[in-house]
Amino acid sequence: MGRKKILITGAAGFLGSHLCDRFIKDDYHVIGMDNLITGRLENIQHLFPLENFEFYHHDVSKFIHVPGELDYILHFASPASPIDYLKIPIQTLKVGSLGIHNCLGLARNKKARVLIASTSEVYGDPEVHPQKESYWGNVNPIGPRGVYDEAKRFQEAMTMAYHTYHGLETRIVRIFNTYGPRMRLNDGRVLPAFIGQALRGEDLTVFGDGSQTRSFCYVDDLIDGIVKLLHSDYAEPVNIGNPDEISIGSFAEEIIKLTGTTQKVTYKELPQNDPKQRQPDISLAEKILGWSPKVSRQEGLKITYEYFKNLSEDELYKKEHNNFEGYIK
Ligand code: UDP
Repeated sequence: MGRKKILITGAAGFLGSHLCDRFIKDDYHVIGMDNLITGRLENIQHLFPLENFEFYHHDVSKFIHVPGELDYILHFASPASPIDYLKIPIQTLKVGSLGIHNCLGLARNKKARVLIASTSEVYGDPEVHPQKESYWGNVNPIGPRGVYDEAKRFQEAMTMAYHTYHGLETRIVRIFNTYGPRMRLNDGRVLPAFIGQALRGEDLTVFGDGSQTRSFCYVDDLIDGIVKLLHSDYAEPVNIGNPDEISIGSFAEEIIKLTGTTQKVTYKELPQNDPKQRQPDISLAEKILGWSPKVSRQEGLKITYEYFKNLSEDELYKKEHNNFEGYIK
């Protein structure tokens, strides 16, 4: 029997590239696909010499053609930070709607199992804490985050419809804040923002009074949860994240300590519809997948900081500058 074949959309992104690594390590034939709007070829360039890795430079919002058989599809293509989807709102909506439709159609055609990347953003600014999968959310459809939140909600609806009406094997992971090596430094996410500021000797910018909370999961834990979910028989959404919750103000203090920066915290205006609190309830994942995160924030932050600290000047420059221009259609 040959290798199992898996298509990973958003392969050059932060999570997509870690997924490529994991499935290569597990001896799959991996087809990575990315339109490189927010993804970076640097994240996967080490895979190009491998005979069981292929890369398609393609926008999944357009018809997807993959020759031959396909066992699995992971749909991870999407801008995924507030700054990105404010800059490219239409692409964000298209990849979550047209993109998922193409992926599901391809999966039907190939009789492949699909896993889609959903998000804690489907809960919006939650009125229930911590968030369980049964919570329907509190989303402003026309707010600045609406393009992302509603695309992801539509994506879940579409995926369940294909599951129910076409009997497609589908999995939905609701991803909470995740961090680790390969994140971009310029996408506005809080962890790379703080680390980038510390490395450049700038003050750390805390939005609002810093009392809003998040719960940060190290990337290896998340990938492990996703692989377990893919191989499970559970079709409804499953939260994967680390429930260790912290306020953004305290998080800034942790980064100051970790990096040894002599800079301070400066406060900036809280972005509109910024969720006040977020913490996954992971009891479902624990029960059906036997999964829980293993890497503490202290360990994970140390690995991540070392990664950024050891980048060359050229690599750091690339992490700080995006490549939207020229790609936006
Ligand atoms: N944040 C901050 N300073 C920054 C960037 C972000 O205080 O330089 C805050 C942001 O307002 C939010 C939290 O950190 O409350 C997490 O932001 P991120 O964009 O990483 O993720 P999300 O809001 O989507 O969870």
